Amino acid sequence: MNQLSQQDIDTARILLEEEKKKLVSRVIELTAQDPFSDPDRLNDNAASDMEASEESNHDRFQAILDELKEKLGLLDGALLRIGNGTYGVCTSCGKPIEQNRLKILPTAVLCSLCEQKKK
Ligand SMILES: [Zn+2]
Repeated sequence: MNQLSQQDIDTARILLEEEKKKLVSRVIELTAQDPFSDPDRLNDNAASDMEASEESNHDRFQAILDELKEKLGLLDGALLRIGNGTYGVCTSCGKPIEQNRLKILPTAVLCSLCEQKKK
């Protein structure tokens, strides 16, 4: 069923693990920069204007973090599928995902046909 060669899968795994490492260090970096990660800030009611702008900063942080975590989830999912041998198989129709598509989007879970149907 799966048309990917072992070498293709190995290449994908290395790529996904590299990407995961980058994302994890980015998440750690961002979390460290978030002013709200310092618990003392929460008790500081001095300047409400400041807090409002910090809050929108926090929302932005949170949005970026959420996006990174979502990507991490996709990477983990792809690595899991490599582990159990279902990597490169469309989760919707069960057919192999086009190799060109996987090269562009290694975390793809749908073949391009199913992806189009989704829209
Ligand atoms: Zn499909």
